[in-house]
Order: sequence, then structure tokens, then C-alpha cells
Amino acid sequence: MITSFHPPARTLMGPGPSDVSPRVLAAMARPTIGHLDPAFIQMMDEIKVMLKTVFNTDNELTIPVSAPGSAGMEACFVNLVERGDKVIVCQNGVFGGRMKENVQRLGGEAIMVEDAWGKHVDPDKVRAAFSAHPDAKILAFVHAETSTGVRSDAQALCAIAKEYGALTIVDAVTSLAGIEVKVDEWGIDAIYSGTQKCLSCPPGISPVSFSDAAVERVKARTTSVPSWFLDKNLVMGYWSGGGKRAYHHTAPINSLYALHEALLLVLEEGQENVWARHQKHHLALRAGLEAMGLTFLVDESHRLPQLNSVCIPEGVDDAAVRTALLQNYSLEIGAGLGSLAGKVWRIGLMGAACNQRNVMLCLDALENTLQGMDAPIKLGVAAQAALQAYR
Ligand SMILES: *Cc1c(COP(=O)(O)O)cnc(C)c1O
Repeated sequence: MITSFHPPARTLMGPGPSDVSPRVLAAMARPTIGHLDPAFIQMMDEIKVMLKTVFNTDNELTIPVSAPGSAGMEACFVNLVERGDKVIVCQNGVFGGRMKENVQRLGGEAIMVEDAWGKHVDPDKVRAAFSAHPDAKILAFVHAETSTGVRSDAQALCAIAKEYGALTIVDAVTSLAGIEVKVDEWGIDAIYSGTQKCLSCPPGISPVSFSDAAVERVKARTTSVPSWFLDKNLVMGYWSGGGKRAYHHTAPINSLYALHEALLLVLEEGQENVWARHQKHHLALRAGLEAMGLTFLVDESHRLPQLNSVCIPEGVDDAAVRTALLQNYSLEIGAGLGSLAGKVWRIGLMGAACNQRNVMLCLDALENTLQGMDAPIKLGVAAQAALQAYR
């Protein structure tokens, strides 16, 4: 007989979703009200205000798209790319490849700038791509590549695009609320994120923001936006202020309660403090893993604190370790993707999951599990190394 579903209690230290704070879960369980209810509309306005703060932007068009991060990505591309447009797309992992797909499906021409998985997007290559294609209309890149744990220099890349008069589309799904993201200061024109990474919400919502220049580009289109649901001209009528809200779709009401609470948590802690917390726990995790003899895929200079790609020691069975962690510790870490499958684990320290208890649990669980498999690691030193880093 089928009965109510009660998920097991897990610690989520993979590439997302991350642990959700009890405050966010409680917010989500509050009674559903109508999506045009004045109380709900007021909450929507507060979400917009808080999103602007975390994106560090004054962009009027800053809203949560009612679908996961992938829909935020599509919202940027379907609105800004027209048939025949040249788009410079940077790929250094899985998610840049999805940007390329988006451009090509829209009839655009993707000019690829490729860097190895585990490396950051090379600004010199982007400059070379623009000098070969000065008519490129958009530069698209991933700020925090979750498939590898690499941070690229969003500010430098946007500055190059501006020199050539191009707009920028930036994937900040994993970066937002984990590392610094400054939309206005860096000159980002279209940015999308997701709720289930460092914002520590359940998945299903994608915050996006469009600059005035991006909005102008959408308005100046000669063809209509090929997606009805994601057409910013229509969505704006729903999310615009001033009480004259027009029905577009039914907002995911309770998921937006969750986002409201999660944004409040970030602002209560303070953005700078949130970034510093991610860095602090990353350094402790790193100290423990390195003491054990494990190594990182990415150079420290471009490493994301919230997504740690750790090389799997020779002879260790990737899947067996992850299964043991889940069964014995109820701890989830991520597998490698694509060319890194079987080569790395991806250990997330995202949002509410980024805390000392999780770092200590992960080190202990990994050490015991690897010990049981006779892996070549140093025993009994990881926890002390992490505690030393916290001192
Ligand atoms: C998770 C992720 C996405 C996709 O988000 P979904 O919510 O899974 O659709 C896109 N880009 C990056 C960098 C991500 O980490």
C-alpha cells in the first residue's frame, strides 16, 4: 500500500540541492494564498527588492523565473538571441555546453572559446575571439562552473565584452550567495541563478536580472521571442510594480515563500559575512583533505569555496565510496560529470550546508570509508588539520 512519503534525513554536500534551513522549510509549509492576493503581491515586491540586493543591482527587471536554473538560462538566451546573431560562448565544463546548445537552437552562431575542464575562462582567448568577430553581439560564460569547481573572472570578462559593445549573459547559478556577485559594478547585462545551490532553497525557481541595455535589446527585437512562457515582455506585466498586475501564469506560491525566507537569511547574516563563511569552511575542509593526502583538481586561485573537486585516489571505486557515505553517514557528495566522471568527487559547501559540523562529518566519513577500502591515505590527521584551520 502506498502511504505518505517521508524522505530520509540527509546531509547534502553535493553540487546541489544543498541543505535547506528549517526556517525556509517552515516558510514553505505556510498556507497557500491566491497569487493575485494583495498580501502575496506585497511579498513578491519584497522578493524583488531582496533579489536586487543580493545581485548588487538596481536593475528594474530583477525577478524569480518560475522554474529551475535551466529555465533562467533559457530566459536569457530566448530573449536576447535572434536568428543569425553571433554569440561568443565560453566553455570550460558542462554548463557552457548548454549555453552553446541554447544559441544554436535559436538559430544563432556560437563562437566557442574553450578551456580545459578544471581551468578558468582565459580572458586572452575571449579578447582574441572578439577581435576575430567584432560583430559578436553577446558574450556568454559561467561564473562558477559547478561541474569542475572553477571560478572565472566575471568582472574582467564583462569588461572585454563592453569594449566591443557586446552584451553579457552570465550563469551565476552556483555563485550567487556563495562568492561575490556584483551585477552593476561588473557590467553584467543578463544573469541567472538557481535557488537550490547557495541560496539553500528547494529547487524550482531561477532568479534573473536584466540590465536596461538588455531590456532595450529585447524591445528592439525584429522577431517575437520564440518562447511564450519565458518572454520577458509578458512576464514583466506580471512582476511589475504598481498594482496593475496582469495574469501570466500561476506563481509557485509556496516556493516563493521559501525564496523570501532564504533571501532574508542571507541579508540578516550580511552578504560579505556569507561569502566569508564559505571561504572559511572551504579552507578547513581543504586542510583536512590535504592532510589525508587528497588533492584538488583546481588551482587555489580559481577554486570555488562552495564546490570542491577532489581527485579520487588511484584504485578507489568512486561509486562504492559515495554509496557507503550515503548508507553509513546519510551524507551525499557529488560524482564527477562528463570527462571527470570517476576522476573526482564534488564536495559542496553551499548555503546552509556550509558549516563546521558538516566539514567535520565529511572528513570523518571520508576517512573511515577510504580506510575500509585500503586506500592510500594518511589516517588520524584530517580532523586535527581542520580544527587547526578553524583556530
Ligand atoms: C545547477 C546548475 C544549473 C542548472 O540549474 P537547474 O536548477 O538544475 O536547472 C545551471 N548552471 C550551473 C552552473 C549549475 O550549477
